[in-house]
Amino acid sequence: MITIVPGYGIGKTYVVDSLETTPSLKIIHDPKKELHILDQALKTFRAELESMLHDPSTHDVLAFQYAMAMDEEFIQSIQSYIIDRQMNASYALRVALDYYVSVLSTSSNAYMLDRIDDFESFYERMSYVIQGIPFIDMRHIKEDIIVVLKTLNLHIMNQLNALHVKGIITSSKSITSHAAIIAKQKGIPSLFGVDNLDQFQHGDLMILDADEKRIYVQPNTKMLASYAESIDKDLLQPSQFTQWQTQPAQTMDGISIPIEANMSSIQDLEAIISSGAEGIGLIRTELLFIDKLLPPSFEDQLKMYERIVKHYKHHPITFRLFDLGGEKVVPFIRLKKEENPLLGLRGIRLFQKYQQLFYNQIKALLMSAVHGHIRLLIPMVTTKKEIIEVMTYIKQIKQSCIDKNIAIGDIHIGVMIEVPSLALSAHLIAPIVDFFSIGTNDLVQYTMATDRSVLLDNDIADPYHPSIISLIHHVSESAHKHHIPVSVCGDVASQEDYATLLVALGISSLSMVPSKILSMKQHISSMHSGHLKSLKTELLHIEDHHELKAILKKTPSF
Ligand code: PEP
Ligand code: MG
Repeated sequence: MITIVPGYGIGKTYVVDSLETTPSLKIIHDPKKELHILDQALKTFRAELESMLHDPSTHDVLAFQYAMAMDEEFIQSIQSYIIDRQMNASYALRVALDYYVSVLSTSSNAYMLDRIDDFESFYERMSYVIQGIPFIDMRHIKEDIIVVLKTLNLHIMNQLNALHVKGIITSSKSITSHAAIIAKQKGIPSLFGVDNLDQFQHGDLMILDADEKRIYVQPNTKMLASYAESIDKDLLQPSQFTQWQTQPAQTMDGISIPIEANMSSIQDLEAIISSGAEGIGLIRTELLFIDKLLPPSFEDQLKMYERIVKHYKHHPITFRLFDLGGEKVVPFIRLKKEENPLLGLRGIRLFQKYQQLFYNQIKALLMSAVHGHIRLLIPMVTTKKEIIEVMTYIKQIKQSCIDKNIAIGDIHIGVMIEVPSLALSAHLIAPIVDFFSIGTNDLVQYTMATDRSVLLDNDIADPYHPSIISLIHHVSESAHKHHIPVSVCGDVASQEDYATLLVALGISSLSMVPSKILSMKQHISSMHSGHLKSLKTELLHIEDHHELKAILKKTPSF
């Protein structure tokens, strides 16, 4: 078991079942109930489509899906599978669709063959609705619960509200998966790598002690009272770091190392505002729209970005362009299945295919920049050519806004350094961008050839490995030579020892979960540039990551 977020919580067990993308047949005895599920799902689906149909970027795909959701013959065929064959709604939908797909696939007409994709797209979105994902609206749960997640669905993770969700338990073992990142972002005590989740019964009272890696089902009153007392005590304890709320992070000798916040949901905004953050170093924009079954329109995006910028005025805000693909499966874009999604169409590699989506995003960001200081961050870049393509596109959008008298603001454009090829060519990239942001989660994954969504031997996927240190060092040197800032927004930036290492290597700012910001500011204040300099020389000569960790452990204060 792995503690992802320490702490403890008490609540009723809330089991969230897995989303089935291949439905299983269940013989049903209550067709009315299944017909109702189908009816509700179609209504939700249509309502969602209606709000999107006016957007020219998605109109064609949506118009076809909307027609399917309205087609009486098609709906009747699903209903008859439910009534006559006693099938559950999701299975009946699949069978009805398979029939249409088999007819289409015999066609020699390219247009008709293309519609197969639309059918599949329709199916995938409807299966989310039918399986109740939009209906499991966990944001409105009003009692304290401990969530048992049988599947790490980002959509559900994003809905969890720390006010009532007192703990998360799952079998996943990945510490840098996006589900783990969201759990940390929300600060909900979380225990990963828990086997045999079927042992937990919905509704049972439970204590989760993530510190001690213990779970107590139906605890006795003595144990409950003792944990309740500890929780109250922790809540009452004043933070020892409150003095850092308004002070900037600086080393002892006055070098500023701004500590910024990572954000993945609009609900994070309040926590960020009160976290003492000196800006937002990373917004994972793909997660802002995870509730959507369809691509967010230009209007949706403008509304969201303006809201953030207006609420967090006077601070720099880094919006990362949609970073889709890999393990980030979101309902609003259906990507083709790949053998190795982490090595396939991911991040900015989707730019050509979904240009309209990026067009809407870039235009909305340029317009929101009128209200504040926006940085635009390009994810998963591998080559310089990709950067030039996006920059040229941004220029064209700017020009077309100017031509149409649309007010836009200035934005800085930077790149995520998370693929080794880009880290190694940082000296060639630095002259053409405004800033670098190093994503250690992916940089470690791609350098050490380890899948971040699966826990491998931690000795391999280790951010302290000399290869990672050397890549970060090269990126940092290249940034300094060309006078651009370089930040680290990967998960490990929030660990104090690692932060020491990063600052010693010349990293100019760090971005992390809001809950770690105040203590990190205090940690930065214990550093001194003279010591950091000698530490850097030492770090760059160490060949063994265990030795490196030991040295950093020995450097609690400077
Ligand atoms: C990273 O890769 O370190 C990063 C910050 O991006 P993400 O975790 O969203 O891939
Ligand atoms: Mg990344």
